[in-house]
Amino acid sequence: MLDRLGTGLKDAVKKLAGKTVIDRAAVEELVKDLQRVLLQADVNVKLVMNLSKAVKARSLEEEPPKGMSVREHVLRIVYQELVNLMGDEVTVTLGPQTILMAGLQGSGKTTTTGKLARYFQRKGLRVGVICADVFRPGAYDQLRNLCSKVNVPCYGEPGVTDAVKIVENGIRELKNAEVLIIDTQGRHALEDDLITEIIDLNVLTKATHRWLVIDAALGQQAKEQAARFHEAISIDGVIITKMDGTAKGGGALSAVAETGSGIVFTGSGETIEDLERFDPDSFISRLLG
Ligand code: GDP
Repeated sequence: MLDRLGTGLKDAVKKLAGKTVIDRAAVEELVKDLQRVLLQADVNVKLVMNLSKAVKARSLEEEPPKGMSVREHVLRIVYQELVNLMGDEVTVTLGPQTILMAGLQGSGKTTTTGKLARYFQRKGLRVGVICADVFRPGAYDQLRNLCSKVNVPCYGEPGVTDAVKIVENGIRELKNAEVLIIDTQGRHALEDDLITEIIDLNVLTKATHRWLVIDAALGQQAKEQAARFHEAISIDGVIITKMDGTAKGGGALSAVAETGSGIVFTGSGETIEDLERFDPDSFISRLLG
């Protein structure tokens, strides 16, 4: 998905690097190119405008540090502002914790829960998973299958509709787990009882993390979803799934901005191993590479 964005950004940067003089006109042209590339990648207009304003103002006003040419200075600003656009770097602690998964149906929440179980297990932690998705038939079987592949215990009560009860029982059953991951229900739309339920689960579990799963294909709706979940349970990390697809991906950045958090992981395939930690710095370096 990132090929086009990467090519567009590289072209914009190359064009600037090839200019003989870096004056106001050159900076304005660069900013226009960046705007076009980012908007095409589905990045929210407001975010694009903020980035362009920052690049323009900083390029024209900031003095280059000693020994740095104007050109290098402007390119460094572009790099820094693109890194900023990706949100904060999120640290993942390798100790006891409870993670509450949030997101709408189809976002890849259940698959990602399995992937996370694998991730923490590989780090040598005892992991337990609870299926509190009481909405989608088959969610428990799907999660149990994923977990059984890696021998992670998965608690669920298929047929039971009270998610809070299931999680209460699951916490008791899995009391030996150091990392507890709770897959919650996702619906097709943001409904009030979905939000009420996840608030109840957050209170019950005193979750250490509340991570929002967003499909890379989601465009501007990502912003609204993130706002609702953030208001309800204070999202502290975003996981972008389906990075291997053809989606433009920029929409998911609205979720990051909306929650004031950052991207914790990205998913890039359907198997339990297809999960990567996200580091804004190296991501942008590779994109501009
Ligand atoms: P949920 O409804 O949010 O629990 O979504 P699922 O975990 O069931 O995922 C929905 C579909 O997306 C399934 O077919 C998954 O195999 C697929 N999926 C999830 N994550 C990824 C990913 O990173 N890449 C690809 N290609 N497919 C994914």
